[in-house]
Amino acid sequence: MLLIIGAGVIGLSTAMEALNAGHRGDHITIVADEYSPETTSDGAGAIWRPVFLQDTPVELSDGWAQKTVDRCTTLGPIPPAVAMCFVTLLD
Ligand SMILES: Cc1cc2nc3c(=O)[nH]c(=O)nc-3n(C[C@H](O)[C@H](O)[C@H](O)COP(=O)(O)OP(=O)(O)OC[C@H]3O[C@@H](n4cnc5c(N)ncnc54)[C@H](O)[C@@H]3O)c2cc1C
Repeated sequence: MLLIIGAGVIGLSTAMEALNAGHRGDHITIVADEYSPETTSDGAGAIWRPVFLQDTPVELSDGWAQKTVDRCTTLGPIPPAVAMCFVTLLD
């Protein structure tokens, strides 16, 4: 059994990763005091970019950023019902 606290992007992503790793759906429980569309994640702009973290070596944060964008771009096709697409922003 897997209990996930929180139904924002972190909680739901954790649930998806657990499913993809072979956990049975009926063994995963998500508990939260707010669910979509009431979470902070529902209001996020979904903008991704590398960030500067004050005391974190830039090689580390750049590595995390690269892993994140690699993961996001290999998630597979986005269902048409989801109003989302990848766009490139330039500073
Ligand atoms: C206006 C706005 C725009 C943003 N735009 C971007 C963006 O473009 N790019 C970006 O990367 N980030 C953006 N962010 C930040 C991003 O939204 C958050 O970092 C992200 O949504 C956090 O996800 P989360 O799953 O950790 O938290 P949340 O989405 O806040 O989810 C938390 C979950 O935990 C539950 N919970 C919390 N405490 C308890 C408790 N004690 N008991 C039970 N349940 C609990 C809540 O009910 C909820 O279900 C934006 C934020 C805002 C406000």
